[in-house]
Amino acid sequence: MTRWQILNAEPGNYSPAAEEILRRLGDVRMLQLDRKGLLESLGQVDVLIVRLANQIDEEVFAAAPKLKAVVSATTGLDHIDLKAAEHHGVIVLSLRGEVEFLRSVPATAELTWGLLLALTRKIPSAFDAVLHGKWDRDRFKGHDLAGKSLGILGLGRIGHIVARYGIAFGMKVLAYDPAPLEWEGGVEKCSNMGELLGKADIVSIHVPLNASTAGLVGRLELGQMPGGGLLVNTSRGDVVDEAALLAALESGHLAGAALDVLPHERSSELKESPLIRYARTHSNLILTPHIGGATCESMEATEIFMAEKLSSFLKSLT
Ligand code: NAD
Repeated sequence: MTRWQILNAEPGNYSPAAEEILRRLGDVRMLQLDRKGLLESLGQVDVLIVRLANQIDEEVFAAAPKLKAVVSATTGLDHIDLKAAEHHGVIVLSLRGEVEFLRSVPATAELTWGLLLALTRKIPSAFDAVLHGKWDRDRFKGHDLAGKSLGILGLGRIGHIVARYGIAFGMKVLAYDPAPLEWEGGVEKCSNMGELLGKADIVSIHVPLNASTAGLVGRLELGQMPGGGLLVNTSRGDVVDEAALLAALESGHLAGAALDVLPHERSSELKESPLIRYARTHSNLILTPHIGGATCESMEATEIFMAEKLSSFLKSLT
């Protein structure tokens, strides 16, 4: 029986149950590797398991002559050069399209809701004030969600769950999606993005990053939102034009934003992010470090699911 050489290059807190499945398939190395270490370790590797730390590009594929599969427990695949994978005959196994399974994974939708509440109720700055010895109720008067309109850009798996939370909170929920899998009951359909942006008090973004969605929400689109609107983005940083968002916050056109994702979040350029600089001195921008999917339950479930998917793939090769 073939013993596959499996490298898990981002094994921090990896599910023991998923690791057990991998060990039945072959020889498993669990090594937290930076890019240099990764490139040096790929010579004999059949299967590479990644999260989001490394860009899996042509250089990586060229360094892995035996590679058969890259496994990523994500739906977004912008950290993997899919054309280079195809060119090298490597299959990319991911959560993309695993609709049934993904319905049971709420982590990113729950974080979206946490960010929304943190923004409307000023929770981070209120907590910070308490830590500094202040107990000042009046400074932190927020806004109700009930009665407001929530605009969901991208009514896919996460968008659907967020829509349900919005309805449960008594919000009017609208969505725009040119190709939804299904339509959530109680959600008003917008015929284009401009209509959605024009009608929503709060916009939450749930589209994948690809050539047609990079920079999708820019100066023009933010300008279509009513003054005083809020923006939440837990999809990918490059979907929103950073400079346009900053300008909308600085001018006061947007009352606030909460982002779990930033452009350049995996590069050294992150240090120069104008949004991080702005957030240091303005409490109406809340930032989290791409933790949407990062709950113990969701990560364990997805790692086991992906290990089983890998197992089926490897069996199909023998
Ligand atoms: P999904 O594929 O189920 O849904 C995406 C939806 O966006 C689809 O219905 C699609 O038709 C729609 N869409 C595409 N282009 C659009 C456009 N121009 N305007 C409006 N709608 C458009 O994906 P999902 O599982 O809901 O996840 C959405 C994205 O969230 C992922 O692609 C990923 O990048 C991101 N994500 C982030 C985290 C995190 O940790 N923050 C975790 C999981 C997923």
